[in-house]
Amino acid sequence: MRQVIIIGSGPAGYTAAIYAARANLAPLVIASSVEAGGELMKTTEIENYPGFAAGIQGPDLMLEMQKQAERFGTEVVLDDVTDLQLDGQMKKVTLGNGDVHEALSIVFATGSAYRKLGLPDEERLSGYGVSWCATCDGFFFRKKTIAVVGGGDSAMEEATFLTKFADKVYVIHRKDELRASKAMQERAFSDPKIEFVWNSAVTGITGSELVDGIDLTDTVTGATSHLDVSGLFIAIGADPRTHLVHGQLDINPDGTVVVDGRSSRTNITGVFAAGDVIDPTYRQAVTAAGSGTVAALDAEHYLASLPRELVAGAVQPARVEEVEEKPNEEAA
Ligand code: NDP
Repeated sequence: MRQVIIIGSGPAGYTAAIYAARANLAPLVIASSVEAGGELMKTTEIENYPGFAAGIQGPDLMLEMQKQAERFGTEVVLDDVTDLQLDGQMKKVTLGNGDVHEALSIVFATGSAYRKLGLPDEERLSGYGVSWCATCDGFFFRKKTIAVVGGGDSAMEEATFLTKFADKVYVIHRKDELRASKAMQERAFSDPKIEFVWNSAVTGITGSELVDGIDLTDTVTGATSHLDVSGLFIAIGADPRTHLVHGQLDINPDGTVVVDGRSSRTNITGVFAAGDVIDPTYRQAVTAAGSGTVAALDAEHYLASLPRELVAGAVQPARVEEVEEKPNEEAA
């Protein structure tokens, strides 16, 4: 039995783990089997995370966060949660490998999942020209003509990154102005390999085995057209990943988990939520990290209110002092 189990390993999850571990709560992080580190594992340069004046690669940042959490005694399990029972004082977390972990409190920080266009051929051609991850798949499009759909920061980032490989990158956006930040817009506008296709919705993806084009519909005139491309990168935002808690935690109309004011407290005592899963607006790595801090502090406060003998029965920190002292010992 644990004092706290943190579900999710993005900036919110790992920051919650750093705080919980330093509060001697011996947290267990369930980090996912394939997506450990969260969405930042799929990004490239992060230029707006404070403390990294020269920028840092997304995967490097996440590795540092994991190491920092482990340094203070966090245990990280690379598996998926398949079932969560949140009612009652003892929460139950079932993993893909069949293990069941119990905890007095839960920090739910599962982030968000990429949005899909909802087109019939999107799934069929996924991995065959349709992608949600430029850093993962960009390499396959050397000297090709490809398209990115979306008008936010993600779309600009993907398009700019993809010009490293592709000869031409169309950005398809359903409006005539972007949602992306000015800096990201300007970078994309000034890139000679990027061409914007405004007021256009992707209404079809063509190709029998590999993507060979996309159908477009003008969102103003309704006129249809076709663009020959060998890849389509979908960057139209993300939705909170809440399927594990449906029917247990209260959910807002926008899909985020309901929390009490500026706290991380959900409708179930002992269950706290953090990061993209509660944030429909800001969704930055640094705001998620701040949200993880709030959740860890709320969990710590809650655990302090429980009877001592109950908490004493939980896994206790493994030699936290020794872990902290290690760097000095090595230097000596
Ligand atoms: P956003 O929600 O900001 O943007 C989504 C974009 O996709 C919008 O332009 C939207 O159009 C469009 N869109 C949504 N649904 C559809 C659809 N069904 N068909 C066509 N287009 C659609 O998501 P992002 O992933 O871009 O960004 C999420 C957050 O992450 C933001 O806060 C962003 O700032 C941040 N971010 C920051 C980065 C950085 O700073 N380096 C990099 C990447 C993301 P419309 O404008 O018409 O609504």
